[in-house]
Amino acid sequence: MTAIVIDGKAFAAKVRGQVAEHVSRLKDEHGLVPGLAVVLVGEDPASQVYVRNKGKQTVEVGMASFEHKLDVTTSEADLLALIDRLNADPNVHGILVQLPLPDHLDSDLVINSIDPAKDVDGFHISNVGLLGTGQRSMVPCTPLGCLMMLRDHHGSLSGMNAVVIGRSNIVGKPMAQLLLGDSCTVTIAHSRTADLPGVVRQADIVVAAVGRPQMVPGDWIKPGATVIDVGINRIEKPEGGTRLVGDVDYAGCAAVAGAITPVPGGVGPMTIACLLANTVTACCRANGLAEPQGLTA
Ligand code: NDP
Repeated sequence: MTAIVIDGKAFAAKVRGQVAEHVSRLKDEHGLVPGLAVVLVGEDPASQVYVRNKGKQTVEVGMASFEHKLDVTTSEADLLALIDRLNADPNVHGILVQLPLPDHLDSDLVINSIDPAKDVDGFHISNVGLLGTGQRSMVPCTPLGCLMMLRDHHGSLSGMNAVVIGRSNIVGKPMAQLLLGDSCTVTIAHSRTADLPGVVRQADIVVAAVGRPQMVPGDWIKPGATVIDVGINRIEKPEGGTRLVGDVDYAGCAAVAGAITPVPGGVGPMTIACLLANTVTACCRANGLAEPQGLTA
């Protein structure tokens, strides 16, 4: 079997198009411009690239982008004061604090100081609780993107066996909650899981969010299963230079799976698209307007 390739780049472009349409309608009909504030503390090169891409795509869909670049020595009090100002600013509908923060800042305290209604990353403890209890919440962007691709490919996920490899707060756990919400039978695997290959072989859906290059080989995959590869790992090429690979052995898994996301061009582009979707959703909710269809969980 050769797997269908789930094209995250094309899917993300479609989501951005839907976001742009909704933004335009909000402007025309309500005079509203959804606004996303991104806070970056320090000069981590990877974070700078992410923040630049987020700002660029925010503007491209017609939303307002507010970038706050703070010195690496910024105190916790100053950062919390900025978040207070953004919480109170009616032009800001979404707030994202780029992680990781420098060591002297308490990430949990900072994230939990964001107004949950503006927490477009979905990391605030209130949103985690709302998602876990099946209530309306802001949903973390990467798992939301994975869910959208799975729904698009399968229609209903009801009754499917899903195995999520990885139990992080930003990917693994919310992914499992979303799959449970769509009536999958969900197993969360991690570094202490006994017989991981045997567990993964039961899965109709495998979501790999581990951070280990090409860890999942093709012979762990049930024939016809859908493989969603969240991993982004940079490895050395034999001929020199580097390239990005996921957490699954793409060629090996694609030979067995029914469908698979590539790296790059799979989950990655969906993450920013879902951040934009969450910002529009937050703007609609803040103004008591109907939410865009298909852009939330
Ligand atoms: P974390 O490091 O926070 O979590 C990794 C998880 O993998 C942990 O739960 C860990 O288990 C588990 N794990 C580690 N080794 C093994 C193993 N040998 N067998 C089974 N499980 C194992 O990573 P993240 O969730 O933040 O990210 C995962 C990957 O996804 C990374 O490659 C990251 O770059 C990528 N990513 C991609 C995004 C995108 O936009 N596409 C967004 C976010 C992340 P334990 O808890 O037991 O230690």
